[in-house]
Amino acid sequence: MAKRLERVDGLIEEYSDLPLEAIFKEDLLRTGIAFSEKALRVAAQFKSKAYFIFSFDLVPLADMSKQEHLRAPEEICLLGGARNFRRTIVSVRVNPASPYRIDVSDDGRALLELEGEEITEVHFQPVPEFYQRTLSNGKPITDIAPTIEWGYLVYLTVFRICQYFGREEECQFCDINENYRQQKRSGRSYTGVKTVEEILEALEIVNETDTVSRAYTITGGSITSRLNGQREVDFYLQYPKAIEERFPGRWIGKVVIQALVKEELLQFKDAGVQIYHPNYEVWDPALFEIICAGKNRYVGRDEWMRRILDGAEVFGASHVIPNFVAGIETSQPHGFGTVDEAIASTSEGLDFFMSHGITPRFTTWCPEPLTVLGKLNPGGAPLEYHARLLRVWRDTLEKYRLSPPPGYGEAGIGQAVFSVSSFMDVIRTDKPASSIQEAGESRVGRIS
Ligand code: SF4
Repeated sequence: MAKRLERVDGLIEEYSDLPLEAIFKEDLLRTGIAFSEKALRVAAQFKSKAYFIFSFDLVPLADMSKQEHLRAPEEICLLGGARNFRRTIVSVRVNPASPYRIDVSDDGRALLELEGEEITEVHFQPVPEFYQRTLSNGKPITDIAPTIEWGYLVYLTVFRICQYFGREEECQFCDINENYRQQKRSGRSYTGVKTVEEILEALEIVNETDTVSRAYTITGGSITSRLNGQREVDFYLQYPKAIEERFPGRWIGKVVIQALVKEELLQFKDAGVQIYHPNYEVWDPALFEIICAGKNRYVGRDEWMRRILDGAEVFGASHVIPNFVAGIETSQPHGFGTVDEAIASTSEGLDFFMSHGITPRFTTWCPEPLTVLGKLNPGGAPLEYHARLLRVWRDTLEKYRLSPPPGYGEAGIGQAVFSVSSFMDVIRTDKPASSIQEAGESRVGRIS
């Protein structure tokens, strides 16, 4: 048996209370995926990566010799195959050197292989009708309003740049600015600052034809001074305000912005925003200071955490869902030296927030090569860390009897669509996994 597969199987056995699909999903997210030429030819006919905010790739665009950035799918659906996978949606992170590879078999099935051994079948998402459309100014809708989470979430990065600039301020795991530069260099339509009019026109198009999306996220880089003469709050507030006026209640409105004071948050609540994501990225105070130097300088770590709690008074605790980047607390040179220490620290944060009814969620760290941490830690965090985190996150949720976080669709293996980590996949529910028919054949591309 191949060595890597042996290690993954060992963890699947050790963590048999977790769905095996979630262990593979975490490994795919931390390692990335390679594609054969044939698989890319097939995938290019389905919904492709829109680069909705970061690169989420393990190599820069310049090193993609097969033009993967134009042909790789946004997400894949793992289902059936050699290990009889229940439906699992995974965000695609391109890595031509990955031991995980998608190829097409002689009988026309796309297969995920690890070191040459079949793991599962792969399905692609058909291109939504609205993806074919352009705005009146000629911009493709994939630039202005792409969807992720198998179509559930319209992702509106309204400002593709962050004013935390350079090594002294940018979060060390984040490639928003580098990604913006590389996308522009590649010639992709990639709007730095989207206007309210562009967003409304794009959502008009989505609304006309789409029946899958249920939520939108307004997000972008931090604004430390002003943007188009506006302060951060006023800049970000104008979007949900306009969306909720034009399409009241059509989608669940979410914002991913800095930790703001209560008076500012009330304005978002009044505008119709339902869910607030003040991402704290890493729990450990010393690591926050180093890894999130900009946030630390402008807001401060303790104040950031206090404002998360304040957010609960505005939106309700269950609707404050701060994100952290799972694994960066293991990064060197400053991170914890062992998985035990990393998990102990992160669990402390989970316990703290969940005891207040606030459920943090996480994205699995992608060590992008154009980031400080990615350069120093190209292998990311150990898979064992990710398995232990899934268990402790789920157990803490159960300990405080909290419901699955709202705004992510169905929870549980075979049901979840959240694609950049497995927290929704590991929630225990009574629901049976979707069969391919229930998943909607129209939404699961089959290769014929
Ligand atoms: S605040 Fe940090 S994570 Fe957010 S966009 Fe800026 S650099 Fe990236």
